[in-house]
Amino acid sequence: MTEAKMYYDNDADLNFLKGKTIAVLGYGSQGHAHALNLKDSGVNVVVAQRSGGDNHKKAIEDGWKPVSVAEAVKQADWVHILLPDEVQRKVWEEDIKPNIKKNAVLSFAHGFNIRFQQIVPTSDLDVIMIAPKGPGHLVRRQYEEGKGVPCLVAVEQNASGKAKDLALAYAKAIGGTKGGVLETTFKEETETDLFGEQSVLCGGLVELINSGFETLVEAGYQPEIAYFECCHEVKLIVDLIFEGGLGKMNYSISDTAEYGEYVTGKRLITPAVKAEMKNVLADIQSGKFANKWLEENKTGRPFFNKARKEVSERMIEKIGARLRSKMSWIKK
Ligand code: NAD
Ligand code: MG
Repeated sequence: MTEAKMYYDNDADLNFLKGKTIAVLGYGSQGHAHALNLKDSGVNVVVAQRSGGDNHKKAIEDGWKPVSVAEAVKQADWVHILLPDEVQRKVWEEDIKPNIKKNAVLSFAHGFNIRFQQIVPTSDLDVIMIAPKGPGHLVRRQYEEGKGVPCLVAVEQNASGKAKDLALAYAKAIGGTKGGVLETTFKEETETDLFGEQSVLCGGLVELINSGFETLVEAGYQPEIAYFECCHEVKLIVDLIFEGGLGKMNYSISDTAEYGEYVTGKRLITPAVKAEMKNVLADIQSGKFANKWLEENKTGRPFFNKARKEVSERMIEKIGARLRSKMSWIKK
């Protein structure tokens, strides 16, 4: 196995950002963190956030004078798009493309719109990605603590010849080179990100937890016990894996639990499950998943809204909300 090169603080130079104005489009989860970290790193930032709504209020409270996307793009040498992925195409066509400076930098925190050709930038632009591998609130908090969330960087277009240095400098300015930066491509980042969230992190985990919970409840056990066993403890187990891999987890659990892991894990996650994972990946690679999601958005999200409602009405959500309300330490 070859080891991928990692980039840290000494591999990146903030001077590449000197004299540039960066427009941060969107003051949401990622946007607020990038804007504040950039500013604290000495970068000139202009924030675009549509008015009305909490994020606009928050931007003002944080000391910004948020402007429209078109206005921010006109002022900037570098445009970082931190809008929801499904609106980026429209905003690009209407507000960014007509206003972006020649030879500017266009950057993203996720490759979706480039990978699936929703945005096709002109060839004078540097097109890069700086994608923190963590939620925006951590990107801000860790920066304030002198730490940093690891980042991926990628170069899609290198018009200036300096695109990678620019991406690394940006990653440094938001704290990413403290955690470590890995180079990828828009294609790899997009496909692995979609696959991970669908198969393991969100889709797979949610249904695994819920199936376990329902199995116990349907067998007549108390739902509170089912919740603790199949949901609450997931975090405790994942924390051990996060800290020390499967080895640390297996060391901490009882030998009975470990034996059960070996005999039962593969009864559930059978070769058929992995075969279906390969189909899921194929749908991502072919663009089938992306097209369905874009279509869903064009038609008012009928499936999405129905599924969101179904999941929110599950028994595990009601039981969990009640139990968590008594655990003062997990508030917020
Ligand atoms: P978000 O939904 O938290 O924030 C988006 C912001 O854009 C909101 O403030 C919203 O009001 C604003 N907005 C929406 N539509 C707009 C429009 N038409 N014009 C102007 N403003 C508009 O989004 P996010 O989760 O921060 O995601 C932004 C990007 O970062 C996406 O590309 C996403 O894939 C990527 N990303 C997110 C995370 C994460 O943890 N949330 C992690 C890595 C990458
Ligand atoms: Mg992801």
